[in-house]
Amino acid sequence: MSREPSFRWNDAGELATRPAMLAALDHIDAWIFDLDNTLYPASADLFGLIDVRMRLYVERLLGVDEAEAHRIQKRLFREHGTTLSGLMQSHDIDPREFLAFVHDIEMDALEEDRRLVEAVARLPGRKLIFTNGDADYAARVLERLGLSKSFEAIHDIHACAYQPKPHVASYESMVAAFGIDPTTALFVEDMARNLKPAKAIGMTTVWVNNGSELGNHQADMGFIDYEIHDVGHWLHEITGGSL
Ligand SMILES: [Mg+2]
Repeated sequence: MSREPSFRWNDAGELATRPAMLAALDHIDAWIFDLDNTLYPASADLFGLIDVRMRLYVERLLGVDEAEAHRIQKRLFREHGTTLSGLMQSHDIDPREFLAFVHDIEMDALEEDRRLVEAVARLPGRKLIFTNGDADYAARVLERLGLSKSFEAIHDIHACAYQPKPHVASYESMVAAFGIDPTTALFVEDMARNLKPAKAIGMTTVWVNNGSELGNHQADMGFIDYEIHDVGHWLHEITGGSL
């Protein structure tokens, strides 16, 4: 398979070869989306709010000051993929209590994107959310985005048995849970490294390069089929009036 993207943006930021693009995705019958910083702009910075809550959780759990809690949290994230995974392995915490605490944030920064809502509705086939967050939080985000009725299901961190992306087990559990053939599935995600296992099992991969924290970490076009900047824009281009 060619490593070259099968389309190009022209100077106006539009797809220069839309017909070829549609043909290239003709076999896709399952559209899988990451949630955070993928279905809404990274500039909304919900992670900034969640980050504060995580730090506060670590402060209270370990009785350390804010600076030390920050250092510990970042190390756990780096070493375990998520802060939750690190805390579960090193401190045996209750994941549901943790997730409820850190996701107790305002979502004023999110707004409905009609173009995205309508483009998702036009996608042919199944549509799923695959997130390292939990379903309660994901449902709140989707509600704010006007996408609460757009997806068949949310495969969350509980469903992944707390093995977050990019653990291979999380992709296997998602594929098994919904009977998905990876070779006819497409996965959209802002953290490039999370696309590698998806590509390895045969999925078509779409990287949302939107400047999110660590988004370009381990980015490699060897496992990225399409690099885009905005999901709503891209879906609108590939579905616009013709699907
Ligand atoms: Mg994300």
